[in-house]
Amino acid sequence: LQHDDFRSAAHALVDRIIDYYGTLAERQTFPNVKPGFMRTLLPGQAPEEAENWPQVFSDVEKVIMKGSTHWNSAGFLAFFPCGTSYPALLGDLLSGAANPIGFSWASSPACTELETVMMDWLAKALNLPEFYLHNGIGPGGGVIEGLASEATLMTLSSARSKAIRTQLSLHPNQTHHDIAKRLVAYSSNLSNSSVEKAGKIALVHLKLLDADKDGSLRGETLLAAIEIDKKNGKIPIYVCASLGTTACCTFDDLTEVGPICEKEGMWLHVDAAYAGSALLCPEFQYIRKGLEFTTSFNFNPHKWMMVNYDCSALWFKNSSHAVNALNVDPIYLQHEEMGSAIDYMHWQIGLGRRFRAIKIWFVLRMVGLEGLRSHVRRGVAEAKHLEGLVKKDSRYEILFPVTLGLVCFRLKIETFDEEKTNELNRKVYEAIHADRRFFITPASVGGKFFIRIATGHVNCSTAKLDECWNVIQDVTENLLGSSPH
Ligand code: PLP
Repeated sequence: LQHDDFRSAAHALVDRIIDYYGTLAERQTFPNVKPGFMRTLLPGQAPEEAENWPQVFSDVEKVIMKGSTHWNSAGFLAFFPCGTSYPALLGDLLSGAANPIGFSWASSPACTELETVMMDWLAKALNLPEFYLHNGIGPGGGVIEGLASEATLMTLSSARSKAIRTQLSLHPNQTHHDIAKRLVAYSSNLSNSSVEKAGKIALVHLKLLDADKDGSLRGETLLAAIEIDKKNGKIPIYVCASLGTTACCTFDDLTEVGPICEKEGMWLHVDAAYAGSALLCPEFQYIRKGLEFTTSFNFNPHKWMMVNYDCSALWFKNSSHAVNALNVDPIYLQHEEMGSAIDYMHWQIGLGRRFRAIKIWFVLRMVGLEGLRSHVRRGVAEAKHLEGLVKKDSRYEILFPVTLGLVCFRLKIETFDEEKTNELNRKVYEAIHADRRFFITPASVGGKFFIRIATGHVNCSTAKLDECWNVIQDVTENLLGSSPH
């Protein structure tokens, strides 16, 4: 593609993107396709000769759109939001065009330096403890990872390496492996599946402790587990606490868990992948209670902060623990500023990294903190609106407090037979899914199957939630043969 060809292709693509957003309401949120549908639409091998842009472009609708779930559609109420915005798309376009691989400061100084400034801007916007700021001095500071999963793995690996070094200095006759097999980490049984996965990858025994009835990991549960493990010769090293669990948006009690971690010398990581964005608003600052005890903190701007995927912000209280854990310095990566500049390759699992700070910069400047706060507030107001609708219908019950933008509810039946209630709710869910107008996700906590509706997606609205509630009521009436109570 020559410069002028790219100019006209890119203009056409941008027009198509704007049209796509403008007509999203006309598209079905979840596609009617079956696994393997694409094999019949595409040739079995790549073309030998180059094709022109109009040919390729014309296939976007036929091939991609045909099988797309429209995450930005107003009917998409599943998972948690995956936000985007035009400023973020502009940032991604520019970063794709510049295309630096910012593993070290020298590989592209702007890439590293914008990231350190953006992580300080974000830390201040969220009112994180001051020790998370780079401020040019460290040892704290932030880094942009791709995913919350990577942030958990990175912090668990750092805690593991720190613990092994400490133990080796105390007991020099032990081997690395003697110590590694005794390490134990904790999280709640409501933490995201990526936490359990991090334990599998880092080869640290990760125990999922029971959350209490409100979905919160409590100090006494943690303490009991630590005491048993220590008696059995284990070495507790790490806790991953959740602020905003995936299934039901509940919050672990950092004011109880934090002092225990501090006393035991354990690493306390916070996974606030979804709920972290709420800290932009003064009225949600109460969820940060206990953050002063944490060793690392993570949230995903790509969820609720209008920055498109992928973008996960991670802060270390002391970044040297990460650097010491994963530092490998082959000669081809060395540069003359080593030691006086940040080399982010040591703060993450992989070597190469994208220039993600640009999209954060554009969003923070073009939406502004007030704009982002309005976005978060709109999501919470939408959830409160839906909660009100559910509460008005006595056939349904709300299962967890609607703190932010997630509503968890289920149809209850009089028999108190949990299995029958679950079966009925599964049918409600399946009927909504089969209807295809709305895409929602179910969850199960404490043996209770329920429906969860996430609000705050870029095109969500109370009008659309009213429509969704009507579908749910129709489905309920079909199943129960009754009208609202
Ligand atoms: N933690 C929580 C609380 C989540 O809700 C999610 C995903 O929704 C994750 C972690 C995983 O995020 P990622 O896909 O960025 O790894």
